[in-house]
Amino acid sequence: MRWPGILEYFAEYLPLTGKTPLITLQEGNTPLIASSSLLKKAGVGGLFFKFEGMNPTGSFKDRGMVVAIAKAKEEGKEVVMCASTGNTSASAAAYARRAGLSCVVLIPQGKIALGKLSQALMHGARVLAVQGNFDQALQVVRFITSHYPVALVNSLNPHRIEGQKTASFEVVEWLGRVPDFLALPVGNAGNITAYWRGFKELFELKKISVLPKMLGFQAAGACPLVLGKPVENPHTVATAIRIGNPASWKGAVAAKEESGGLIDAVTDEEILEAQRMLAEEEGIFVEPASAASVAGVLKKAREGFFRGNEIVVCVLTGHGLKDPDIAVKQCEGRIEEVGASVEEVVRVLGF
Ligand SMILES: *Cc1c(COP(=O)(O)O)cnc(C)c1O
Repeated sequence: MRWPGILEYFAEYLPLTGKTPLITLQEGNTPLIASSSLLKKAGVGGLFFKFEGMNPTGSFKDRGMVVAIAKAKEEGKEVVMCASTGNTSASAAAYARRAGLSCVVLIPQGKIALGKLSQALMHGARVLAVQGNFDQALQVVRFITSHYPVALVNSLNPHRIEGQKTASFEVVEWLGRVPDFLALPVGNAGNITAYWRGFKELFELKKISVLPKMLGFQAAGACPLVLGKPVENPHTVATAIRIGNPASWKGAVAAKEESGGLIDAVTDEEILEAQRMLAEEEGIFVEPASAASVAGVLKKAREGFFRGNEIVVCVLTGHGLKDPDIAVKQCEGRIEEVGASVEEVVRVLGF
């Protein structure tokens, strides 16, 4: 079967009308990969990775963006705008071009990963580097989009959350059951809100009879939901979750409380270690923020949180190629110099 993309495949669950243009880059339908090596470390009954880095622009943002852009087009908007730590801008830029719209992105100066920046630029977005952090950029975007004829495509736009919830439908469909735990990184908290909404919708429609517990993980230097108050100067190597005042704060707390789950913090060291383990042991390359879900599950496993028979799904939100700088920096000293001869290479390899 040809995969038709989110709008067509999940039409009955989305706020579409007869006039919504069914744009697509064939987002969604991402792999749910069974863990081999990390399963043993986690000590649970089953561990699966929902690899959202396989979306067209390399992150889960495409699921919500395709809905937000289609609705903006339907409403006759010509310009869309967002503040972004990177992936939202990459996705907005790509889908805006797809729909024939202009795109403006505000990014925190110097704090956006190279892969993401290259995408926004190549897709022809206007890129404004703001001398401030994400939270400040978002405030500017909120004002402008409510006073000018420009569509807001941050996750404050409810269509974004609607599109993103489709990932939970895929988890249930491909797993053939509801996982006991759904773990994911939390930044602006739109995604945890979206997954929880998706699971609850299936429950209300009686398509599932149990709900998962939601496990959200923030970076220790940017964990307002753990501290219970905004963080003024958030810092973490995981730039996609470098957010001090999440827009979907209430949604995240509701997901945690209603599901009986938790929101915890993981250190940058734990995040980078999980990123390396995913790459080296599982063959899956994700960006640092995405590894927070795995770092969190491993931390909880060490604390004795799991009983041992649970099915856990970790959402891997973005592709490793998004942030090549951090990856190469982590592997510094690994490149060996060698002369251009068979003898030299054989000698170095010890054959
Ligand atoms: C946006 C993003 C996040 C955070 O998602 P929120 O909805 O803001 O909580 C995590 N990882 C990656 C790769 C992202 O792009």
